[in-house]
Amino acid sequence: MKVVSTAVDIQALSLTYRRKGLRVGLVPTMGWFHEGHLALMKEARKRVDKVIVSLFVNPLQFGPNEDLDSYPHDLDRDCVLAEGVGVDLLYAPDTKLMYPNGFSTNVHVRGLTSGLCGGDRPGHFDGVTTVVSKLFNQTLPHVAVFGEKDFQQLAVIRRLVQDLDFPIEIIGHPIVREKNGLAMSSRNSYLKADEMAAALSLSQGIKQAQKLARNKQEVSVQEIRDAVAHEILKHRECGIDYIEVVDKTSLQPCSVVNSQSILLLAVKINSRIRLLDNSQIIGS
Ligand code: AMP
Repeated sequence: MKVVSTAVDIQALSLTYRRKGLRVGLVPTMGWFHEGHLALMKEARKRVDKVIVSLFVNPLQFGPNEDLDSYPHDLDRDCVLAEGVGVDLLYAPDTKLMYPNGFSTNVHVRGLTSGLCGGDRPGHFDGVTTVVSKLFNQTLPHVAVFGEKDFQQLAVIRRLVQDLDFPIEIIGHPIVREKNGLAMSSRNSYLKADEMAAALSLSQGIKQAQKLARNKQEVSVQEIRDAVAHEILKHRECGIDYIEVVDKTSLQPCSVVNSQSILLLAVKINSRIRLLDNSQIIGS
């Protein structure tokens, strides 16, 4: 596996592959790899000839009081893990090269970004769509793989690609979980042992919601939200950012719960660690 740090180099390599008729795939990440990241890389490996993984902790998508400075990182560790699943190129650009003095462009997707995580983290999705647009232009992939763990992000990226005519196929990968149900996340490394039960309440809340839907002929959105909140608020460490049942594609609130609905959760543990989870409730 080759490690590349400049846009000029990664673009030249990708162009060389493309001229040879090889298909290129990109997995954008912020590093500190876990099995969720590795599953995306393996998915890309199955689909393309050359897999590029980008590793960039993007300052544009962090708010002023968020965890940019403490975000876990270890390039050597990540290189070993990526190489182990057959990644060809690890692209780890420097922040100053990504955003040199004078950088003035912002990519904004309207609508889909206004609620949910967009409501709690103003400017977050502009940071995501701006960096992903740059990464697409730098790495020139045919295919890019994103996780459903960040469900709203995936919907926003699909919209971006459609609206700006990026000739890239977007693949969504299901959430990878720990055996105990916790959705894997780099931020789980912040959890102390006595915070684990609280962190598990997200997936347990989802299970409760699914059980409710199975056992009742018809279940209302409010019943689902109440059941999830009840499970989460058993833990005093938990603060709910949102519990919403929305349409999978439009992300608009659902009036009825059906197979098009998705339950999305964001919960803060001890006001420090923001965890996300989501699942279909019916037909999962
Ligand atoms: P991150 O490094 O957290 O920005 O994540 C990079 C990519 O990995 C994003 O597309 C995430 O949605 C995806 N991802 C992170 N955690 C998981 C998970 N547990 N299962 C599936 N995909 C994930």
